Amino acid sequence: MRHAIRTGGLTILVAAAIQAATPQGAAAFEPKMESDLLNPTLWTQSSVEFKANSLAMYKLAGIMLDEAVADTSWTAAPAEQASGFEGKPPAIILDVDETVLDNSAYEAWLVRAGESYSSKTWVPFVRSETSLPVPGSLEFIKLAVDKGVKVFYVTNRKAPQEQATRNNLKALGYPIDESEDTVLMRGESEAWASSKKGTRRAHIAETYRIAMIVGDNFGDFVDGYKGSLAERQALMTKHLDMWGSRWIVIANPMYGSWESAPFDHDWKLPSEQRRQLKYDAMAVWAGP
Ligand SMILES: [Mg+2]
Repeated sequence: MRHAIRTGGLTILVAAAIQAATPQGAAAFEPKMESDLLNPTLWTQSSVEFKANSLAMYKLAGIMLDEAVADTSWTAAPAEQASGFEGKPPAIILDVDETVLDNSAYEAWLVRAGESYSSKTWVPFVRSETSLPVPGSLEFIKLAVDKGVKVFYVTNRKAPQEQATRNNLKALGYPIDESEDTVLMRGESEAWASSKKGTRRAHIAETYRIAMIVGDNFGDFVDGYKGSLAERQALMTKHLDMWGSRWIVIANPMYGSWESAPFDHDWKLPSEQRRQLKYDAMAVWAGP
């Protein structure tokens, strides 16, 4: 531990505090204090600021929903729903991870274990069905169902995790319309193999007018999310009227395409190089 060099007495106190905070039976992790995920995970999991922000976004979604349903000239999927949608019944799309389901316990495990995201650990987490509700999401989805709006969950969790995902959602009380497939996983069909969700939005748009989208990642709204920082900024600005009206964004400081944009979304680069490119992407004050 870093404090050990200077403050012997404090080390004992800190060690005792960590021991006291570790639930019985939990794996005894060596604290990995250098993880970049520590603050964003702590903020998401424990701050009233995150909860208040999420509740506010879903409150805004609820307010905007009436207008989104009433104004049939609107679509939240302009790329996939070009014309002829006015008479179609309204639907809304919600992403799942960090939009409806809070997986911060998985991120906390990454911090404690000194690990990075891997499907080898993510899939067992999904199968544990222990994700929690993102504040405000359950109330908003129930409101939409009460208003007769079709609710679709469009997630990049992969097809083999559909049952566990449905179980987790249902156990938390999330309504899932069973009259058709309303939980659209990545790779459920060949056309849905990509992390880009446009083909799944297009599938929904065949039958419904997509009145609203809620997500935490730019890719939940547009397929051009894997551009450079400048390209993403331009695409965001192009759709300025959508934000807060048809597109509702939940904050996710733990991960997302915002993180990979500085290194051109190339996860094959060594982690030090990716971190260096993120470091270099910051706008920096010249100093005192
Ligand atoms: Mg997400």
